[in-house]
Amino acid sequence: MRRRKFIKKSGLTTAGMLTAPVLASCKDEKKVEAITDQKSVIPIVICTWDFKNASAKAWEILYQNGSSLDAIEHGVRIEEDDVNNQTVGTGGRPDRDGNVTLDACIMDAAGNCGAVLALQNIANPISVARKVMEETPHVMLAGKGAEQFAYEKGFKKVNLLTEKSKQEWLEWKKTANYETPINIENHDTIGMLAIDKNGDISGGCTTSGMAYKLAGRVGDSPIIGAGLFVDNAVGGATATGVGEEVVRTVGSFLIVELMRQGKSPQEACEEGVRRIIEKNKNRKDFQIGFIAMNKNGETGGYCIHSGFSYRRYSPEGHENIESQSYF
Ligand code: ASP
Repeated sequence: MRRRKFIKKSGLTTAGMLTAPVLASCKDEKKVEAITDQKSVIPIVICTWDFKNASAKAWEILYQNGSSLDAIEHGVRIEEDDVNNQTVGTGGRPDRDGNVTLDACIMDAAGNCGAVLALQNIANPISVARKVMEETPHVMLAGKGAEQFAYEKGFKKVNLLTEKSKQEWLEWKKTANYETPINIENHDTIGMLAIDKNGDISGGCTTSGMAYKLAGRVGDSPIIGAGLFVDNAVGGATATGVGEEVVRTVGSFLIVELMRQGKSPQEACEEGVRRIIEKNKNRKDFQIGFIAMNKNGETGGYCIHSGFSYRRYSPEGHENIESQSYF
């Protein structure tokens, strides 16, 4: 059995038995002993990287009997609104021309989905993606069309480029050398999966994409099946890392299908990473991390290089789980 470091114990073990308020205080962290086997424990939320505040918000909504869809939208919005996060939403690093372009998608338990690609001047792409899902006959809106749609739905025009990101971009322009550092130096998309008290799973993914990308470049994050996939009968998966490689394996869909065939979320994530390695036998210079959750509330995560982690909130508490890696 794998030992886990739990941070802040916050309730009892099944959704029906929750009694204590668990609004996340991210300050009073306390390491407590591990709980290793927790089949059928709901609600649960996991997200890529150590996004404590986003997962805490999602958990707060789940705890108050909210839907997994609301938990996802309002959870990831925390990161979209955090100007200090330079890889998601406002404050995100721009493309090589200095424009911040955002990608996001959302998927619910009924299999509905919506996405926005290369969206500019709008602070909460995940909410626009939800509007695409709920209020249009389409799944994806891109660029100017997505922006126009957002204004029509009442979203305000904002400047997404903070002074910090602008100065860094100006510095980068001196060499204009496009690199993708292994971990969070220039990319840490938030992908989130949640299961609510009804056992319904939803997911979302939102990013400013790779820093200094070519104008118009879109990665995996808003692509249903690549950056995110949910099948409420099975589970969900989401990704972070170099999106081009996730798209080439349709990574999140693959992981859900592997779980359908009987693999645990952990095994499915490991197989997803192996498929990517097989296609890149001569490359070790990029990172991808997957996380997954199944219908029983079991979760897993795996990555190419060490350094990736994911945060998990459950009735037992919350923890940042260091992912095992292929290399
Ligand atoms: N997957 C994102 C993209 O390719 C970036 C990341 O997660 O690091 O745009």
